[in-house]
Amino acid sequence: MKRVNGRSVLDVRGLSKVYDGSGRRVAALREVTFTVQAGELVCVVGPSGCGKTTLLKCVSGLLTPTAGEVTLAGRRVDGPPPGMAFVFQEYGRSLFPWLRVGANVELPLKQKGLPKARRRALVADALESVGLADAAGAYPWQLSGGMQQRVAIARALAYEPGVLLMDEPFAAVDAQTRADLEDLVRRLWRERGMTILFVTHDIDEAVYLGERVIVLSASPTVVREQLTVDLPDDRDQVHTRVAPRFAALRTQVYEQIQAAKRSGAAKTPQ
Ligand code: ADP
Ligand code: MG
Repeated sequence: MKRVNGRSVLDVRGLSKVYDGSGRRVAALREVTFTVQAGELVCVVGPSGCGKTTLLKCVSGLLTPTAGEVTLAGRRVDGPPPGMAFVFQEYGRSLFPWLRVGANVELPLKQKGLPKARRRALVADALESVGLADAAGAYPWQLSGGMQQRVAIARALAYEPGVLLMDEPFAAVDAQTRADLEDLVRRLWRERGMTILFVTHDIDEAVYLGERVIVLSASPTVVREQLTVDLPDDRDQVHTRVAPRFAALRTQVYEQIQAAKRSGAAKTPQ
């Protein structure tokens, strides 16, 4: 938390989203409000189907909210803003199979209009950061799932986003790779001072990664609780996860999620 300088960079105010089409009306977000400070790593956790992806899509301007608003550095988001990058859950679908790894990472930099030399330097640096310096010439389909997801992370990093949005980015990789990628995200966050909003349904992951955890209710969704993760900045998979404070925080989030599921079920009996 030392990096946080008290300046709010992302403001989500009264966000609501109703999907209304093909005869099915789904109130995904009811009224979601929270703030992210510059340099913070915030995890959003909530039960499956509670609207986490919907929330990130609204935050990134890919989806128009039904009500409420998102502001990034004081400017209202009404389309994908420059300075924001998104790592999706389905890495398999987020990389272009006909482009080599280096070209995949470079593509958004071309769209940003950066000169070639600068693009090259950023691509090399990002691939190096995720331990894939040797893979620039490979095609995504020649890599394992975990490596593909690292390419997607490298692409987001190379873009030098002010805010990085990550939507359950490790849900589809094996446990060992996932642990490595979690540590990678924390390392890159600490080295680069980015602001990260990380969405997950995994309570342990949220507590391990975040400086703050925002717990969502079941759909139609509101913020149920926000808690500060008062664990040391230096975390590691072995010691942090067995620390008594980690267990206490995990229990607290778990109880909130269980309560959220119960109250969600009570509101919409099926
Ligand atoms: P999560 O990411 O937390 O699993 P989602 O944001 O994907 O949740 O979905 C929240 C709710 O909105 C679910 O009930 C889902 O079925 C519904 N939903 C998501 N996308 C659409 C869509 N494009 N059209 C209609 N309903 C949708
Ligand atoms: Mg989702």
